[in-house]
Amino acid sequence: MMLSAETILARVSELGVEIAKAYAGRNLVLVVVLKGSFLFAADLCRAIELPNLRIDFFGVRSYGDGTESSGVVQITQDLAAPIAGDDVLIVEDIVDTGLTVLHMMDLLRTRGPRSIAVCSLLSKPTRARVAVNIDYLGFSIDDKFVVGYGLDVAEKYRNLPYIGIVERD
Ligand code: 5GP
Repeated sequence: MMLSAETILARVSELGVEIAKAYAGRNLVLVVVLKGSFLFAADLCRAIELPNLRIDFFGVRSYGDGTESSGVVQITQDLAAPIAGDDVLIVEDIVDTGLTVLHMMDLLRTRGPRSIAVCSLLSKPTRARVAVNIDYLGFSIDDKFVVGYGLDVAEKYRNLPYIGIVERD
């Protein structure tokens, strides 16, 4: 096991407090990137004590059934509401090459939000292909393929309460 459920929740709570402080008095929208971020977002939003917090979902697919990035970002579901004038916080499970987050920021920026920031549970800094500033980061990890706590391999293991490493053959 790599990150236990307790370790994850403790860090997510810290992030929530930090985010609530930074966005006090603002109209914050969490843009949750499906599907991998759904558990992270569920815990994170409950740790953000802001009365005006809104939550929306954005579906992208950047991986096939394998464990290598295809480099192609496909939008599978759009936001339900406009974000013009809002403070947007993209909630990602993991920033790997950075291509997905960069693509999302470019796309969301065209809709006129007041600000866009990124919150990612995990980052693999050695894999970065584009420079992406992660404003709120849970954990930096090595270049290993991980699953659990929302993260899958071929749609499996999302329900693991911890994050573990998948051994490649
Ligand atoms: P990027 O565009 O930054 O290369 O990839 C980001 C997306 O790739 C993540 O949102 C996630 O869906 C997927 N991904 C990257 N690394 C991993 C990993 O180690 N495990 C899993 N399950 N997905 C990953």
